[in-house]
Amino acid sequence: MGKLNSRIPAGPLATKWTSYKASMKLVNPANKKKIEIIVIGTGLSGASAASTLGELGYSVKSFCYQDSPRRAHSVAAQGGINAAKNYQNDGDSVYRLFYDMIKGGDYRAREANVYRAAEVSNQVIDHFTALGVPFARDYGGTLDTRSFGGVQVSRTFYAKGQTGQQCLLGCYSSLNRQIKKGNVKMFPRREMLDLVVIDGKARGIITRNLLTGEIERHGAHVVVLATGGYGTIYFLSTLAVNSNASAAWKAHKKGALFANPSFVQIHPTSVPQLNEFQSKLTLMSESLRNDGRIWVPKIKGDKRTANEIPEEDRDYYLERRYPAFGNLVPRDVASRAAKERCDAGYGVGETGLAVNLDFRDAINKQGKKSIESKYGNLFDMYKTITGIDPYEEPMRIYPAGHYTMGGLWVDYELMTTIPGLYAIGESNFSDHGANRLGASSLMQTAGDGYFILPNTICNYLTDEIRVPKISTDCHEFEEAEEAAVDRIKKLMAIKGKQSASSFHKRLGKIMWDHVGMTRNEEGLKLALSLVRELQDEFWKDLNIPGQADDLNMELEKAGRVADFFELAELLITDALARKESCGAHFREEYQTPDGEALRNDEEFAYVAAWEYVGEGKPHILHKEELKFEEVEMKVRSYK
Ligand SMILES: Cc1cc2nc3c(=O)[nH]c(=O)nc-3n(C[C@H](O)[C@H](O)[C@H](O)COP(=O)(O)OP(=O)(O)OC[C@H]3O[C@@H](n4cnc5c(N)ncnc54)[C@H](O)[C@@H]3O)c2cc1C
Repeated sequence: MGKLNSRIPAGPLATKWTSYKASMKLVNPANKKKIEIIVIGTGLSGASAASTLGELGYSVKSFCYQDSPRRAHSVAAQGGINAAKNYQNDGDSVYRLFYDMIKGGDYRAREANVYRAAEVSNQVIDHFTALGVPFARDYGGTLDTRSFGGVQVSRTFYAKGQTGQQCLLGCYSSLNRQIKKGNVKMFPRREMLDLVVIDGKARGIITRNLLTGEIERHGAHVVVLATGGYGTIYFLSTLAVNSNASAAWKAHKKGALFANPSFVQIHPTSVPQLNEFQSKLTLMSESLRNDGRIWVPKIKGDKRTANEIPEEDRDYYLERRYPAFGNLVPRDVASRAAKERCDAGYGVGETGLAVNLDFRDAINKQGKKSIESKYGNLFDMYKTITGIDPYEEPMRIYPAGHYTMGGLWVDYELMTTIPGLYAIGESNFSDHGANRLGASSLMQTAGDGYFILPNTICNYLTDEIRVPKISTDCHEFEEAEEAAVDRIKKLMAIKGKQSASSFHKRLGKIMWDHVGMTRNEEGLKLALSLVRELQDEFWKDLNIPGQADDLNMELEKAGRVADFFELAELLITDALARKESCGAHFREEYQTPDGEALRNDEEFAYVAAWEYVGEGKPHILHKEELKFEEVEMKVRSYK
């Protein structure tokens, strides 16, 4: 426990954030300009943080590996963003949003942070609306909402199936404003290779210019990681292909504890893998479950087309098993149920690894136009990929790796265990416990960046106002740069025969087969040895064509895959250590007689935060005990 101080403010849950803000230290405006802040990442969390900190008057440097900040992975988010506005008057409230998230995460998240996320959700929607994000509106002009999994209210604000893109454009325009004003300096096409720590504090980063290969040093008073999640460890996932874990992993190796790495969300509604050559999967948003009904044939191996199968031969298995929530059960529950039906031989399509998502009834009831207005772009995307028209035939869907609840451990102020290093958005272990509810990531990422970090960072910065500009001319920067260059040289020198992607694909298969939707001790131990074997092969037989001092995307990939091997080992170790099932972490040994997750609150109601202690040495586990003062830990039921 020694290393972990979650710094949760005292007082009742509902007033913690208000009283924190009322008593927090402030940085004098005149001092802000002298303080340099590095923000890595320009997704919803990074762009919102960089623009807000710029607006507040700090000197911000913003980094991303894309050519433009607006290409960050957040652009892909489809279905919506949650807020407790209760415009529908259907019984929503900040408390209910908080409660749904705690329950949805299977009681493995920190109460105080989750409550705060729910609280600022309303500010996020107001802010995005003010920035001009074109959220859908109802007939009267009020912002419209729809429902997402694991809840019984309608609180998801949306812009067709492009909510992430529209919100990111909002963040991007505020970021651009600050760039124009000179408060934010933008460094696109840069990859952070290492974190620089001086006297125990985060003081800068080493980057590689991806166009020229040049290695650069950047100093700052604080460093903020907004570098996204690591779902691409499964190779095939719904994330952008380039999403990776390297920045967080480098910070971890410099002293930041990594929390709950095994909590990975497998999303139930992805377009199934179509062939062996695919490098990514495409999500069909959870919003589709508002109107689409999920089913498989009642007869095993039924070869009739979906439209030929009459009503009485269809098994709407979610509606059957979970009558209270039906097709809107949370993602972990829906994914496992699809896997169960397919494993039992009821899957559809040539591989039998798919279930139907059917809009027939919704189209009959609401008309094609209405469905088109809500999901048109998703339907078009589906048709382009599969050649099948979902207005005429059900979509075929199957679970895929999607979101990582695990990440860098942070305290209430969003600071990691390295003083001066913050982690926001999906890169931190976040507010979602063992399972994230749909549409709550955009809410959290934007909340972290716009409203939480810009406040909590002051506490640390008030002690930094006397610290002069951080010089990069010191041995700490020199050593970090040398280590980054040595690693590149080591990778380039292997000169083997296999590409980084081929290793990534094999690693992903091991992870999917043994550390995916369901896990067991035997499979996890096997995965550990297979990952180690493959890692050895990687360091002997990797091939990187081209040069290091030039644009070299194979080198970029190789560095990320090398880090994935190390993270995979920790992820499996964490999954092995957590001898219970909770949320997305389903250990087959721990289940109820009807196949639901069986938690063990006596022994595992904690956040597992892992400490790196050196190459080849086992990580040390630290436990942050989760105390539930407002909610009672119950068996999570959606029946
Ligand atoms: C297909 C899809 C649909 C989704 N739909 C929804 C939805 O409807 N609602 C919802 O709430 N959530 C949704 N999510 C989840 C949500 O999109 C993400 O969790 C969220 O956008 C993450 O934002 P972020 O700011 O944390 O990181 P990201 O948007 O992933 O941005 C990461 C940034 O970090 C930078 N970066 C990373 N590493 C480095 C490095 N080493 N050096 C330099 N820069 C680096 C990248 O360049 C990038 O700018 C969806 C996810 C997917 C995959």
